[in-house]
Amino acid sequence: MGRTKKVGTAGRFGARYGSTVRMRVKRIEEKMKQPHKCPRCDIKAVKRKSVGIWKCKKCGYTFTGGAYIPLTDIGKVVLRSTRRIRELK
Ligand SMILES: [Zn+2]
Repeated sequence: MGRTKKVGTAGRFGARYGSTVRMRVKRIEEKMKQPHKCPRCDIKAVKRKSVGIWKCKKCGYTFTGGAYIPLTDIGKVVLRSTRRIRELK
């Protein structure tokens, strides 16, 4: 592959789709590829297996999450409200 300049991982799209879209892809992919913290062992060893599926390399814990990051802002809201429902029971 040739030089990808400043678009980084989004360079694979070449000159297609326009620069704004490619920069957006780059931002998301950078977030996606950095190590994420495991909700069980608290170690940064979580990698994305496929869309919304995350796996911790350390303890083997597999869990669902956001498509591009393990815990989205919406996911946090869901967790909070489901916890409240569980406490009520
Ligand atoms: Zn873990």
